[in-house]
Amino acid sequence: MDAALAAANFVRFDNSVVTDAGLISASLGTATSPALLLPPGWLLLCAFAFAVGAAFCVLLRLVSNTCGFCSCGQTDYSLDFPTLSSVELLEQGSMDEASKGGPGRAKRGGSHQESECKFRARLEKIATADGWPCGRSASASDGEGTQGWHPQLDEDEPWQVSAQRFSKLLTSGYLALDEVLGNGMRDFFAAHRVLAESLCGSLGIRLTVQFNLFAGTVLATGSPEQIAALGAAHEQGEAGCFLLTERGAGVVSGLVVETIATWTPEGFKLHSPGPDSEKVWISQGLAARWGVVIARLIDASGKDQGPQGFLLDMTTCGVSRKDMGAKTSFNSLDNACVSFDNVMMPHSTLLSRYGDTRPDGTFHAKGNHGAPTFQIVAQRLLSGRICISDAAITYFSTVLRDCEAYAGRRLVYVSQDQQTTLRSLPYMAATFDRLHAGLTVHRHFIQWLQDEFAVRLDTALEHGNDKESRELINLIAASKVEAVEFAINAVHLLRRNVGSYGLMQDSPFGSRNEILFCCRFAEGDSRVLQQMLTRDLVKRHSSYSQLAALVASTLRDNIACTVGIASPTKRMLLLRNKLLLRLIRFLHLQTRQNMNGGKMSKRDARLRAWLDAGDAIYDLAKVHAQALIHAQIVKRYGTTTDSERFASIANSACEVCQQY
Ligand SMILES: Cc1cc2nc3c(=O)[nH]c(=O)nc-3n(C[C@H](O)[C@H](O)[C@H](O)COP(=O)(O)OP(=O)(O)OC[C@H]3O[C@@H](n4cnc5c(N)ncnc54)[C@H](O)[C@@H]3O)c2cc1C
Repeated sequence: MDAALAAANFVRFDNSVVTDAGLISASLGTATSPALLLPPGWLLLCAFAFAVGAAFCVLLRLVSNTCGFCSCGQTDYSLDFPTLSSVELLEQGSMDEASKGGPGRAKRGGSHQESECKFRARLEKIATADGWPCGRSASASDGEGTQGWHPQLDEDEPWQVSAQRFSKLLTSGYLALDEVLGNGMRDFFAAHRVLAESLCGSLGIRLTVQFNLFAGTVLATGSPEQIAALGAAHEQGEAGCFLLTERGAGVVSGLVVETIATWTPEGFKLHSPGPDSEKVWISQGLAARWGVVIARLIDASGKDQGPQGFLLDMTTCGVSRKDMGAKTSFNSLDNACVSFDNVMMPHSTLLSRYGDTRPDGTFHAKGNHGAPTFQIVAQRLLSGRICISDAAITYFSTVLRDCEAYAGRRLVYVSQDQQTTLRSLPYMAATFDRLHAGLTVHRHFIQWLQDEFAVRLDTALEHGNDKESRELINLIAASKVEAVEFAINAVHLLRRNVGSYGLMQDSPFGSRNEILFCCRFAEGDSRVLQQMLTRDLVKRHSSYSQLAALVASTLRDNIACTVGIASPTKRMLLLRNKLLLRLIRFLHLQTRQNMNGGKMSKRDARLRAWLDAGDAIYDLAKVHAQALIHAQIVKRYGTTTDSERFASIANSACEVCQQY
């Protein structure tokens, strides 16, 4: 299977089939094969020993405990390790001891579960007082989640009604402004998670736009006066929005920004120079009184200071907004197109914690790092990504819970006179095992990331610690891409496997599932994040010494894999390293070919090669992201059944397993 995969990948790269050995010797240069130096007798003996070894490995594989889900040959490690939850319970014990002054890791703030309970109670109180339609479900009460009570909102209700509900959440104190900074972020994440588990998709998007993108950006990059103004607006229940995406730039908005804010003695003149610079997909864009708009700042000397944030009163003359048009679902969320016709904004609207303009219109940075970078200006996109992966996983857990309950009730005939539950059919049991493992790993990883984010990112960004912030940015990207993809694939797989229940209105399927696609496209499209992950990984192997180390570890792991002693973790790393080596080789050769004796500049040739690499970039990003997640889980909890299952899923080339 490995060889077939390798061959397929090479066909994709350069239309010629090259074996792994060919690849590795090509990477090492023209080293003489050690086998050629041996006398013929030794050679025969080695060949014989190798054949016996290979036969033994095949035998071992056949008798080992293989995947019960399909015939892909993945070893099932379910009996060998403790589960993640049991390890967590032990750690919880030591953390409790630590909070009492005993040994172990210190506990930061309350637990994630405590925060969730607090927000469930707040939501129920506000929704009941405001007369939201709601129900009590038996299935919800016996598991995790909404504990019986849950709102039943129509995701296509008029956006004005939904905006009104959200304003109630603001004025009734569902979440406070100081709960979106530092350690308080845990509360913000929990507040959002509770809306996801309560199936309040539109309100969830409103919450993250309001508190994280809008208010979070003002709190992180605004002056004390701007922060005070934000507090007053919050008390009034006034909504805010975040205006970054432009029609032309789409998913690369930020890298490309056409909206301009030109300094004039009277204030900044905000303008959309053409149809491509119109802001689109702006959530809460019709309801919002305030907005953080991202525009390129042109100072008095005409110098472009790059994309900066401005706190805009959306009712200012020259701001035009219209509905984007009907969506397939979630029409209760107002997504707007917004454009600016020479809108005058006071100088005080520039979010000025990291940089400001002087009275003469020149720009000056505050601190040591020059004009604030886009990473600083739009830093809340990072917490937004964590929030989205959390929402996707939480939403998926509600689908899994409902499907499992249904499969446990549904009796199917296995012969004319014998019945069993759908849940206990071996392929279904294996599916649920895999889905629970994926869910558990993602959930634990996201919670760890939320804790890290609260303490590490602000400091890393502020002190310009590129290495540390880059590492965290990659972990966040890995989490968003993989959690959302896992949820989308898993929902699809469950729907395929539960029969006609999947078509019923009271099943957890249908247009509600589209929240997962909102998760995929918003705040960093998966493909763009995957490109970032792969590019960073390739860059980290740009020197000869790094490349040599990569080749050496690939060779070593390849041998371990061939003789059958490699764990799922090792095999996952081997797969990633093989894909990485192939990509590096392809990019190198393709760049040379594209330059074709100077017909194309090196820069263009590199870009062309990158585009030509196609799926190779995304295949590598996928395994790399899974390896990053897995490594953190193992570092924190040790090897568990769930972590090993997660690694086997990552290794599997089997179509069904890939679908979880
Ligand atoms: C529910 C929702 C709420 C949103 N809320 C906001 C908001 O409040 N504020 C805001 O500013 N934005 C918001 N957005 C916008 C969002 O963040 C994205 O920027 C937007 O969805 C981009 O969509 P597009 O169709 O224009 O992408 P396009 O750029 O048209 O991309 C289309 C496809 O092409 C692919 N693609 C494009 N370029 C490349 C490339 N270089 N390499 C590989 N693949 C590429 C993409 O992966 C994608 O699959 C929201 C989006 C959604 C769905």
